[in-house]
Amino acid sequence: MKIGYAQTVITPSLKSLVYLAGFGHNRRAESVHDDLFARALAVSTEQTTLILCSVDLIGLFTPDVEQIIRQVNRPDLQIVIAATHTHHGPDTAGLWGPDDKTRGVDEAYLTELRQKVADTLLGAIHALQPVSSFKSGSVFVRGVVKNARNPEILDEELTVLQFLGADGRPLASLFNFPCHPEVLWEHNPHITSDYPGVLCARVEQRTGAPCIFFSGALGGMMTPDVVDHSFEECQEMGLALAHAGLETFELAEVMPAEDISIQKARFGAKLTNPLYKFAFWRKLLPDVRDQQGNVNSEVNLIKIGDLWLATVPGELLPKLGLEIKARCLGAGARVAGVIGLANGWFGYILPAEDFKYPWNPFKPGQHYEETNSIGKEIGPRVMRAVKGLL
Ligand SMILES: [Zn+2]
Repeated sequence: MKIGYAQTVITPSLKSLVYLAGFGHNRRAESVHDDLFARALAVSTEQTTLILCSVDLIGLFTPDVEQIIRQVNRPDLQIVIAATHTHHGPDTAGLWGPDDKTRGVDEAYLTELRQKVADTLLGAIHALQPVSSFKSGSVFVRGVVKNARNPEILDEELTVLQFLGADGRPLASLFNFPCHPEVLWEHNPHITSDYPGVLCARVEQRTGAPCIFFSGALGGMMTPDVVDHSFEECQEMGLALAHAGLETFELAEVMPAEDISIQKARFGAKLTNPLYKFAFWRKLLPDVRDQQGNVNSEVNLIKIGDLWLATVPGELLPKLGLEIKARCLGAGARVAGVIGLANGWFGYILPAEDFKYPWNPFKPGQHYEETNSIGKEIGPRVMRAVKGLL
């Protein structure tokens, strides 16, 4: 087995106006607190080469992901591009412009971004080097995340993976945790990757090797359990997760580098949300529907030894994330994780039984997530596709 890593800074220039994505309209970036990155980790065997890419962005729609994969132009590669969902990066969707009529996307930035991500993916392939073993594990990190929609449903599990060279030194680490990168809150005007950036920097400092972070099932509404929404709290949360993962590596068994596999399943689900239809009509968002009014996307099941990672194209609610992980463990995994916002982004993905579209979507009360979801069908369709792979 071989692995390769590459990263590229994707922070937008502040020479032109940058609208920050997440929260309300017209959040104009004033400064760069810390850079945003595209990070790519390639894992390769004789049979399969997989590239896992993480971008410090709110999300990327399927047409952008497909365009990047076309630009890479390597049909032999299995590519997963996921967003961390930071709420302090540029608008890559369109919803967060100066007002509710104007797209917040800088198209020149988006074009440049797609090329940078494509180059980063190829950079990881060019950096392939032999790996002899790996460690994986998970740990419950208490007190950093809360569920603002259903406080009783909480996923506090951090899933980690580390590849080691022949001399036993770390070559790369992967961290996976289900919480919105929004320690900094709605009035923050500074570009930042939020807690994942702190996490990666500390792991890289301690291991001397790159670290890549993937957000898990962070939907409805897994959010940092903080008070002041300050950079100090952001630092604390990133460090708590970094240290919990590093301790997990200390205790984990070293396994020989084995085969990897990736299985893909495609699905379609009806788009029923009137707010999305209105946003398409206003050309705020790219219309991603097919002729039947469905959106089409994919889930993947990645196996790296006995670590299984399911990927889903949006913000899965933790109830479904917990179910997927439990099913992976039941089907033979020793450690499981979920990578959210992967190869597409369709807002929240809810369990059908919890889905109640509010009578007034502008005053959604406890049902805000439904107003940022394509509809009731996507939850069951995603789960059916994942169960099919298991
Ligand atoms: Zn979100």
